[in-house]
Amino acid sequence: MAAVKVIRNAHIVTMDALKREFDGSVVFEGNRIIAVGEEPDDLPEKATIIDGRGCVLTPGLVNTHHHLYQWITRGLAADFELFHWLVTLYPKWKDLTKDTVYTAAIASLSRLAATGCTTTADHHYVFPPTGDRGKRADMLGSEITAAAAVGLRFHPTRGSMDLGRSNGGLPPDQLVEPLRDILTDSEKALTEWHDASPGSMLRIGLAPCSPFSASADLMRETASLARDYGARLHTHLAETQQEVEFCHQNLGGSPLDYVAELGWTGPDVWFAHAVHLEDREIELLAATRTAVAHCPTSNARLGAGIARLRDMVRAGVTVGLGVDGAASNEGTSLIEEVRHALLFARARDGAEALTARQALELATIGGAKVLGRANDIGSIEVGKLADLALWRLDTLPHTGIADPVVALVMGSAPPLERLFVDGRAIVENDHVVTVDVEKAAKVVLTAQLVMARGHGG
Ligand SMILES: [Zn+2]
Repeated sequence: MAAVKVIRNAHIVTMDALKREFDGSVVFEGNRIIAVGEEPDDLPEKATIIDGRGCVLTPGLVNTHHHLYQWITRGLAADFELFHWLVTLYPKWKDLTKDTVYTAAIASLSRLAATGCTTTADHHYVFPPTGDRGKRADMLGSEITAAAAVGLRFHPTRGSMDLGRSNGGLPPDQLVEPLRDILTDSEKALTEWHDASPGSMLRIGLAPCSPFSASADLMRETASLARDYGARLHTHLAETQQEVEFCHQNLGGSPLDYVAELGWTGPDVWFAHAVHLEDREIELLAATRTAVAHCPTSNARLGAGIARLRDMVRAGVTVGLGVDGAASNEGTSLIEEVRHALLFARARDGAEALTARQALELATIGGAKVLGRANDIGSIEVGKLADLALWRLDTLPHTGIADPVVALVMGSAPPLERLFVDGRAIVENDHVVTVDVEKAAKVVLTAQLVMARGHGG
């Protein structure tokens, strides 16, 4: 019999179909939840008891968009918009190695865990040549190793760019890869790592970077490859007004018109950002069940705009939240993203644009739907995986806030009493316990210096 753990006396926010909330217990055996509310009569004597008094228990948060490698290039191009920011950072990123990607991923993933995240996607699209006959390093392997070390459920995507500056794209030619190499390496990632089984800790997606860095052929062939393997498709879309203009001028329509024509709509596709959408495009996303990773902090940091979250939610679009890469969201806190989603939606469309519970829903069951994992995670229900976040609300910043969900969403980020992924404790007493974060911070400092100096000329 697998170990049994009990979280007792917490306020439980289930995020189930009825959105039930009550005070009580959640019991899990190994990696699955076996009781919600009441404890079973035959609880084993050896069960671990966690006192949740003064805490709110939510499903673990799901992060639907990130670039883990960017942790070591934060704080640069601090006052620039997207295209200016990108052309400043591309030359830095060409010096990435397998080791620096690992270092950055450990830091990013630890930070995600400390802010309530139990499952994260990643979008890694930079594969610089290593100097060894055009060979490119196994960046995806590095971050998969890092995710196993930190202990998060992981949905990395094999990103790609094949449209360099000499062909009308934005990235320097040195950073793009030949189409055939991308497809070969993407298929290798799928055969080597993609685990489609229920309860999976690792699923691979494919993700050409954006309309201004990926060719139409790459988009089309990637979609076909991913669908052969039952894997999901991801890309950046309609992030800035400049991108919208680029698409109208060069690609014959809006960003969504362009990718829809290439087969990029459907329940297996999710777009990061979707800030600049017309009414008809929101309707298309809803009708095709194409999902969106909403990244409010990054959009604000880059001055990209505020996505039409109220309208997307009302139209029935599947929406999750994302911190986006650490270089455009230095804070990289997933619980803060919930607060920003709420505040920005209301700043844009008024106080009724989004409720506190809807904001939390986006980060839990919403994110689970975006990643195709709603049967496994995103709510606290018997039979689901034990991915749980226990937040302490009885210390000064949150005492006096009457409603625990309002305290969590509208208050400052509370201490994380416990975080469980697949039944395993990843955070205890607000500290990540699976990796040495002090040591990780020192390694980051060294990597950051190397990146700042540059060695590729
Ligand atoms: Zn991004």
